[in-house]
Amino acid sequence: MATPIAPTGSGKPDWTTEVSRGQTIISPDQLNDNEKLVVFIITFSATPSLCPWVRPSLAVGGTAHLYDVETGAPMPYNTMAGHVLRHLDLFQSFSERLRTQLFAEGQLIFEIPTETLGFRYATPLTGLGTQLVDPSGLLPHVTDVQVTNVGALPCTGSGFCVYKLIDMASPPRPETKRVKCRVCGEETEVPVKETKVSCSSCGAINLVWYLPWGGKG
Ligand SMILES: [Zn+2]
Repeated sequence: MATPIAPTGSGKPDWTTEVSRGQTIISPDQLNDNEKLVVFIITFSATPSLCPWVRPSLAVGGTAHLYDVETGAPMPYNTMAGHVLRHLDLFQSFSERLRTQLFAEGQLIFEIPTETLGFRYATPLTGLGTQLVDPSGLLPHVTDVQVTNVGALPCTGSGFCVYKLIDMASPPRPETKRVKCRVCGEETEVPVKETKVSCSSCGAINLVWYLPWGGKG
């Protein structure tokens, strides 16, 4: 059982919290008010799910995008002007060899050839993000993550990418979002906090997430 470190001394910074939480794992309460997490997941499985990012197994040679967990929309993800999108971490565990590719503005910038099966975790990917080319967030940007099955059998498993979206200009934030139906692809506009969305076209239920600014709901 871990023993809390008692802060000692006075008049100097208290680093005990900083040290214990590290600098790589972000919990929502570590976010500033102008920051929020943006999470993309892909899961390949034979188990049905109401979550749009859960798909059937990926065929040999097949390619898939990761899905935005708040909207159910497949990447690419559009970062609006006034914002910076910064990569925080990556996890993947698949049953087959899978190639992961990261694209910026439609161009390949990073590729992970998974030569071994199993668990892979990386954090952070050298801080890859739109801030490298546009630190003030003056322009919109397009980010995409794709996985391709380069193995011998249909692939199951999961991968995710976590980014931090930083609001550089504080424009009014949208109160609604458009959730893409996992069944028919129709987009339904709902309040940003809604996580159980009934498709306006086919009625299917889509389970998505709400990731608040500043992590405070
Ligand atoms: Zn639908």
